[in-house]
Amino acid sequence: MTAQIEIELRAEGEALPGAFLDPREIERMFASTRQSLRASLGRKLRGLRCQEHGAAPKLRVSGVYDRSTEAMELDYHIEACCQLFTVRVIKVLNRRV
Ligand SMILES: [Zn+2]
Repeated sequence: MTAQIEIELRAEGEALPGAFLDPREIERMFASTRQSLRASLGRKLRGLRCQEHGAAPKLRVSGVYDRSTEAMELDYHIEACCQLFTVRVIKVLNRRV
């Protein structure tokens, strides 16, 4: 069993006049964000298991693109079998690869 990664991206807020990205470009940006997140997170979490329980972590990423500020904010939610392993997963995710 390997890590499960779920990625949910959405846009909210009022688009600025002359917005940098139009709706189709936002969709494209979401697609490439999803792809690169999946690749980098998958690489970081590959083979990672709780040493005590043997379970792999589950990671939920939710991203919100704010049309009015044209900024993307990502939120990570980790589901793991125990507190100790959660801390370990956070450490691995924060590591620069
Ligand atoms: Zn555990």
